[in-house]
Amino acid sequence: MLDIQKIRADFPILSQHVNGKPLVYFDNGATSQTPKVVIDSIVDYYSRYNANIHRGVHTLSQIATDAYEQARTKLQHHFNAKHNYEIIFTSGTTEGINLVANGFASILKKDDEIIVSALEHHSNIVPWQMLCEHTGAILKVIPMNYDGELLMDVYVKMLSPKTKLVFCNHISNALGTINPVEFIIEKAHEVGAAVLIDGAQAVPHLKPDVQKLNCDFYVASAHKMCGPTGVGILYGKEEWLRKLPPYKGGGEMIATVTFEKTTYADLPHKFEAGTPNICGGIAFGVAVDYMNGIGFDAIAKQEQELLEYGTKRLQELENIEIYGTKDLSKKASVISFNIKGIHPYDIGTIIDKLGIAVRTGHHCAQPIMDFYQIPGTIRASFAFYNTKEEIDIFVEAVKKAQMMLS
Ligand code: PMP
Repeated sequence: MLDIQKIRADFPILSQHVNGKPLVYFDNGATSQTPKVVIDSIVDYYSRYNANIHRGVHTLSQIATDAYEQARTKLQHHFNAKHNYEIIFTSGTTEGINLVANGFASILKKDDEIIVSALEHHSNIVPWQMLCEHTGAILKVIPMNYDGELLMDVYVKMLSPKTKLVFCNHISNALGTINPVEFIIEKAHEVGAAVLIDGAQAVPHLKPDVQKLNCDFYVASAHKMCGPTGVGILYGKEEWLRKLPPYKGGGEMIATVTFEKTTYADLPHKFEAGTPNICGGIAFGVAVDYMNGIGFDAIAKQEQELLEYGTKRLQELENIEIYGTKDLSKKASVISFNIKGIHPYDIGTIIDKLGIAVRTGHHCAQPIMDFYQIPGTIRASFAFYNTKEEIDIFVEAVKKAQMMLS
């Protein structure tokens, strides 16, 4: 059993009042909060060893380089990549996806097919549409049912030797659905297609094993898992990273430069042009240590309890519709809902006055909202540091808002 009060004391932000009320932070799907060890690691970097990496002979540069590369190795172990150079630091999930999409621009040909799921975040849709415009490839969509589950029988029929790439999120940000990524990867490989998994929403809840999944690419952001914003990773299988051309040109990513020809640096630096978010990478490593210290089994158990309790309590409300699967074992700790006849934004605004942070809107997943024919939802997303008492406060606040708006 986790000692939640002790854990909450690790997060300075959680003890504050917002609009005169104790903060209830249920917007973890958008960004998670940051424990003091991570904040301290940022202060420590800028206080003691702020220096540019990989190019200095001086001591501070070497300390910073070692710390940054150690963070890469920590991330390699966390995601169970075979080599540390298969971990590319990015500015976040979005950049990781764009890097791969950009690389495939030189691989895809007209009428090749690429497959996306109906449950994607815009950042796992738009780069592929841009790629299709550029290459003449065709984008196909795995449909979903009303419970927010992808239709695997349709997916299998969509695959053919024309399919070059499949991309899908591990967990949906809008509905919390845990997608059958193992199956998706296995079937894509049978036709020779590569697979990119968007792990942005999965990494706070579970520990992905990229070798076991056998995905070709896996992308994630530090800020969803207790780390800072502006840093993330792209995992890529070595063979793919060698095949893809660099995404950005600049310093750090070259071996030699003359005006006639430039040769590129080896992995991972080939994809890391310019001065990276050094401090962010180091703090990402600290965040991963922090979460592993709590343990992902304990995190999953606590979040599942919150999901079950929150779902049960919200079902007390009249005219509520909760979107997504009814099978809570197939869902992360995200509850996306609406109250009939009331705009989600209005509820969000009223409960904000009561100190409660939730997300309202389309959650960068407009096709899902179009599917349900709604403008958006209210999304409460729980982290391991949330409590049932906070859920009680939240449910009472939603009831109050409902009364005011009905
Ligand atoms: N994919 C999913 C499923 C997400 O939830 C998010 C963040 N909301 C992203 C991609 C984009 O992540 P970032 O903004 O950190 O690049």
